[in-house]
Amino acid sequence: MKKVELLIIGAGPAGMSAAIEAVQAGVKVTMLDENSLAGGQIFRQFHDGFHVTDPKALGHDYKRGQTLLSEFASVRNNVEYLDACLSWGIFENNEIAILRDGDSQSFCFQKLIISTGAYDRPVPFPGWTLPGVFTAGGAQRLVKTQQVLPGENILLVGSGPLQLALASQILKVGGKVAGIVEAGRVENWGKLARASWGQWSLLADAARYFWEIGKARIPFLRNRIIVEARGSGQVEEAIIAEVDRNWRPKPGTEQVFKVDTVAVGYGFIPSTELTQMAGCQHHYDPLLGGWIVDRRENMNTSLPDVFAAGDCTGVAGSLVAIDEGRIAGLAVAQALGYLTKTDAHQRMLPYHKRLARSKRFREVVDTISLPRSGLYELPRNDTMICRCREIPFGEIQEVLQEEAEDMNEIKRRLGIGMGPCQGRMCGSAIQAIVAQKKKIEPANLGFLNPRPPLKPVHLSALADHTQL
Ligand SMILES: Cc1cc2nc3c(=O)[nH]c(=O)nc-3n(C[C@H](O)[C@H](O)[C@H](O)COP(=O)(O)OP(=O)(O)OC[C@H]3O[C@@H](n4cnc5c(N)ncnc54)[C@H](O)[C@@H]3O)c2cc1C
Repeated sequence: MKKVELLIIGAGPAGMSAAIEAVQAGVKVTMLDENSLAGGQIFRQFHDGFHVTDPKALGHDYKRGQTLLSEFASVRNNVEYLDACLSWGIFENNEIAILRDGDSQSFCFQKLIISTGAYDRPVPFPGWTLPGVFTAGGAQRLVKTQQVLPGENILLVGSGPLQLALASQILKVGGKVAGIVEAGRVENWGKLARASWGQWSLLADAARYFWEIGKARIPFLRNRIIVEARGSGQVEEAIIAEVDRNWRPKPGTEQVFKVDTVAVGYGFIPSTELTQMAGCQHHYDPLLGGWIVDRRENMNTSLPDVFAAGDCTGVAGSLVAIDEGRIAGLAVAQALGYLTKTDAHQRMLPYHKRLARSKRFREVVDTISLPRSGLYELPRNDTMICRCREIPFGEIQEVLQEEAEDMNEIKRRLGIGMGPCQGRMCGSAIQAIVAQKKKIEPANLGFLNPRPPLKPVHLSALADHTQL
């Protein structure tokens, strides 16, 4: 088993920032990412065959990404970087199992930073499994990295700022957005205005998106959700309805959109599989996306050798991920004796200050877009909830009549979370549905225990691992 001083899992904004600080302090860094290029979700790089002719047209995010990527490139010679490399399990004695080019290997880390990001929150509704229904992140990935449109006439539904960013990106590659359907409701404009003070770059982004959407005359429909997607073998129409404060559709307000594509984005869920598998303590925070790892000030988890930064610790955006990553890198450098406590704290100070400022803004925006109970009342008996094992809502209803009040008990009864997605597609929705029906706090249901391998790997990888 190879021994490494600092292992960083995930080369998004948080992981890259952690690596920059740690390398500059003298730490020997090994880093891996399952993608072939560093950048994570937001700073995803273009593959060979594409080149950027007009950087300005790609907006602030692109510029911010280029700045961070070039800073990372300046330290990369001092990083052992493993691209296209999946970390599929954490075991006792600081062992990480990885898979790269079909080969399984194990690392033993002295310190570990987990910065594995987040994924789209799946929300089941009738018709959500029809071809043509995308997650907003999936649609964005096509548009951003391949300049490929997910369809010809695209309806964006959901809540939160990603809808605006995606509309702008679709317009830039010449796509047609039929409308933006936003469920979130601003209930306290004064609070939003106060929290926005100082967040100039985020406000500038939002203003630019609204200007582009207005110029393209895209209908922006507030306080509405999608209640059904219909079509024969492909989305042909989306049914939208006005909702009350709890996002319950108001009868008689339905509207039909003739579209071939629906991109659904109700926020994100932190990728906590590795922090959970490592045995770190977690708690439930709906505003930050659900189950999140407990951390102390400098990104330390409850385990002395494990640190966590960025969206995997609660969805908060790239600016927060960068600052958290930098603090984690410095904290590890201090823990390994490369920096004195005073030196580390002095370097961390500006990042801590910025984090405190952005927290207030983030909490207000998150409260507006937080999914409300009505969203989880949409499935019908035949609506597929677990896509891997094809379990419809009707079967889940049967369990609801029984005593099962723990996610792992429900997993044992139904087999949810045992397919290739390991619960990423159905776990949060089932938790919300069961909690609502049984009138219990989602936190009291616990979480689906992740088991290695956290993503599908060849059997030979498992066999190699048992022989290591
Ligand atoms: C789908 C999606 C779309 C988004 N779009 C926008 C947007 O348009 N605008 C915006 O401002 N913000 C957007 N965000 C939010 C923004 O991307 C994040 O806040 C920011 O990227 C967080 O940085 P991070 O480093 O924490 O995680 P990420 O950028 O998500 O990076 C995590 C990295 O970890 C890697 N990884 C995960 N698990 C493993 C594993 N087991 N083994 C190896 N590697 C692993 C992933 O490949 C990824 O590269 C989006 C988020 C998501 C999830």
